[in-house]
Amino acid sequence: MAKIFCIANQKGGVGKTTTTVNLAAGLAKLGQRVLMVDLDPQGNATMGSGVDKRQLKLSVYDVLLESASIAEACVTSDKLVQAGCGYHVLGANRELAGAEVELVDVERREKRLKKALDAAAVDYDFILIDCPPSLSMLTLNGLCSAHGVIVPMQCEYFALEGLTDLVNTIKQVHANLNKELAIIGLLRVMFDPRITLQQQVSDQLKAHFGDKVFNTVIPRNVRLAEAPSYGVPGVVFDPASKGAQAFVAFAQEMIERLATH
Ligand code: ADP
Ligand code: MG
Repeated sequence: MAKIFCIANQKGGVGKTTTTVNLAAGLAKLGQRVLMVDLDPQGNATMGSGVDKRQLKLSVYDVLLESASIAEACVTSDKLVQAGCGYHVLGANRELAGAEVELVDVERREKRLKKALDAAAVDYDFILIDCPPSLSMLTLNGLCSAHGVIVPMQCEYFALEGLTDLVNTIKQVHANLNKELAIIGLLRVMFDPRITLQQQVSDQLKAHFGDKVFNTVIPRNVRLAEAPSYGVPGVVFDPASKGAQAFVAFAQEMIERLATH
């Protein structure tokens, strides 16, 4: 049965999508069966997984409206399969922005994704959900489906402030909608050890959150930023790069954490 994780942070541009697609590719490289769900109407995780969002016949939108199952709607990119990092993609495009409105009147609208994922979970080891940068009905569907949340964050002063909001949101969802939900961990991303402030914030994070902070640190690495324009995760684009190696190490850490819990 798949373990289901949301990659969430209310802030935009903090590395959610980069984390989602590279963790997916890293887990696939290590032999795990992975489904990546794009819950952001921008469709960046879809494009970054080698799937053209404009060509999608079915997407997560159809799944949320219950007009398609995940097995029917998911696709894979040949490029990723050839690289030995293939995973299934339940894609998104701008159509998804309409789901918010169309779901207003339906019952249990925050549990639509959960229902679909529960039916597909036997086919995977990991399901990763890339959330949009907001606490919308879409993010709520992600949080209601997941066993845990992975929070990518940059080690900057304001990152800590934003974290309080996110922790409160997750507590509320835990209390009211999803008893299983927990923060699995904080992932330090775009890290530059030469910047003293980043080192200080990193130390504060560890002091405050202890083993909720993942051991793996993702460095700032230009190869990770270049990869999306080639329609592949950094792990596939340049496997030897520091960024790619860090994400494979992170995938390994995730597998080990699950084995010990
Ligand atoms: P989000 O999904 O939270 O909006 P993204 O994953 O799209 O964030 O990342 C924002 C930008 O930062 C993108 O241009 C991405 O390529 C870049 N980026 C993310 N992680 C790294 C990294 N470790 N090193 C360099 N650039 C990064
Ligand atoms: Mg994103």
